[in-house]
Amino acid sequence: MTNTSMNEASSAGAKHVDAVVVGAGFAGLYMLLLLRDRLGLDVVGLEAADGIGGVWYWNRYPGARCDIASCDYSYSFSEELQQEWTWPEKYPAQPDILAYLEHVAERFDLKRSFQFDTRVIRADFDERSNRWRIETAHGTRFVAKYFIPATGVLSEGNVPEFKGRENFAGRNCFTGRWPKGGVDFSGKRVGIIGTGATAMQAIPIIAEQAAHLYVFQRTPSFGVPLQNEPMSAEEDRRIKAAYPRIRRAARESFGGLSLLEARPSALADSPAERRAHYESRYQAGGFSVWFGSYSDIFFDATANETAAEFVRQKIRERVKDPAVAALLCPRPGVTYGTKRQPCESGYFEAFNRDNVTLVDIHRAPIEEITPQGLRTADASYEFDYLIYATGFDAFTGALFRMNITGCQGLSLNKYWSAGPRSYLGIATSGFPNMFNITGPQSPSVFYNFPPGIEMHCEWIADCIRFMEAHGLARIDADAEHEEAWLRHIVELADATLMPKASSWYMGDNIPGKPRVFMFYLGGGQKYRALIDQEAANRYPGFNFVAEDTAQADASKG
Ligand code: FAD
Ligand code: NAP
Repeated sequence: MTNTSMNEASSAGAKHVDAVVVGAGFAGLYMLLLLRDRLGLDVVGLEAADGIGGVWYWNRYPGARCDIASCDYSYSFSEELQQEWTWPEKYPAQPDILAYLEHVAERFDLKRSFQFDTRVIRADFDERSNRWRIETAHGTRFVAKYFIPATGVLSEGNVPEFKGRENFAGRNCFTGRWPKGGVDFSGKRVGIIGTGATAMQAIPIIAEQAAHLYVFQRTPSFGVPLQNEPMSAEEDRRIKAAYPRIRRAARESFGGLSLLEARPSALADSPAERRAHYESRYQAGGFSVWFGSYSDIFFDATANETAAEFVRQKIRERVKDPAVAALLCPRPGVTYGTKRQPCESGYFEAFNRDNVTLVDIHRAPIEEITPQGLRTADASYEFDYLIYATGFDAFTGALFRMNITGCQGLSLNKYWSAGPRSYLGIATSGFPNMFNITGPQSPSVFYNFPPGIEMHCEWIADCIRFMEAHGLARIDADAEHEEAWLRHIVELADATLMPKASSWYMGDNIPGKPRVFMFYLGGGQKYRALIDQEAANRYPGFNFVAEDTAQADASKG
């Protein structure tokens, strides 16, 4: 077949729309709303799940909750929405966030534009028509000018290929695909692999239900208390009255959070001052130690060690058995906060219970999953349920599974085989009219997601409005700007301690994944200024093609 007849064949029977948005989490919902209701485009949303919610649809494991306060972890685009919604707790639990997103979908009538149970398995850019051809697992096809994956950076699970995994005779559970009806662990023996943010939330709750819980730990985490509390009516009123200030403070902050201000240097304070400052931040909870203690903990190993030792000391105080406490403390030399800060509620105290056993799989690794449980290098364990709290193929996992092909038959998987490439974290050269939301090389996971998502969705909608107003058929990130952005990402990261740490921020958790730093570390305010300037200057880092190519030059002038 010639290229032309292939294009015609694959477009036949396809539904033609202006834009396809993939994903119905925070990002997909808002993107669809902007394109459909503000720009008046014909948009379809495609979502693999049978409902909306994204992360908050899939992660229903016991204890799942947000560790950013609800007044920050929520949409700000509608004053009516933020005034009418009441959060029951300071840090919202998964069912409350899902209920909130359901309310948003209902209020803005979003579901009618989504097709659920619909997984995108392929997307190709047709250079002749400047259109994306998108195919789903059901075989349905769409042709769209704009293709917007809102597929999430933590949506594709990582379940390690342990030998014998398929032989387990009990029930397997993965935290990122938790069953809707929940799982009753009462009276059961349970094993859980992993001690990251997810496991730290689940363990204290499962420990209360299970007959016995075995926790298989390879790497201990620097957990700090969340300090969650119910939202009183008075606090709810105070927050609602203060929203203009709260949202402004978040926009002007590094991480998209309204509350914290770090002191510049841990080393400038005396040990007693430092201890008191860390203590006050520890008691304040959430990200207060991480983002609100001292700025130099991200840059200076000696400063960092003061925070690391403070948190280790807290673990030793909270865990009764000194041998167990020692195992739960991150090992000497491991830096604090250079991987995602997990927040916990009673995690360390769970190890004071008689029905919880901590198993060190760093010293004696898992050798095999057996029908009865698992075998490590030095012992066997038996249980009825095996929980994988083993994280995600972050940043690129969901994108790669869509088999995206851009210009000249280049696949995204191949183009990014040495690590993601983009301009501003929004668009990739050779993949025209495709926009990423909070993806790699943007502030992404180092910025509170809802405001990060709003920032990107609004920028993308403005860019599309510009294209439609100027008769432009194609926008493509300029290759030289992309190269410069990559250098900038690396430069910013290399000035910190972060690339030295082993974490999913560097792709370390997935065997074979290239080891590169995945996001922009310049902070939200700087990033916003950069992308706003790009738009104000009429997108100098992008190349356009006009619907009528003769108009192309004129449109940039
Ligand atoms: P997601 O919510 O991941 O939605 C992506 C959607 O795309 C999913 O519904 C998925 O099914 C769908 N999808 C993916 N691939 C396809 C495909 N091929 N076809 C069709 N559909 C597809 N961030 C914070 O800022 N604060 C927090 O406290 C916080 N807590 C978190 C807790 C957990 C357990 C996890 C996993 C993440 C957390 N995050 C947190 C990060 C979280 O990813 C973001 O906050 C936010 O929910 C991302 O929204 P999103 O719409 O971009 O992506
Ligand atoms: P994670 O941080 O990647 O933790 C995965 C855990 O599984 C780690 O302890 C890891 O050990 C272990 N593991 C993975 N592969 C293993 C293997 N082959 N053998 C033994 N152990 C293995 O994943 P997560 O806990 O799901 O969290 C991911 C991210 O989601 C978080 O960082 C955060 O951004 C988000 N999240 C947020 C919250 C919240 O509080 N709001 C809650 C949950 C998740 P190693 O460290 O040794 O690899």
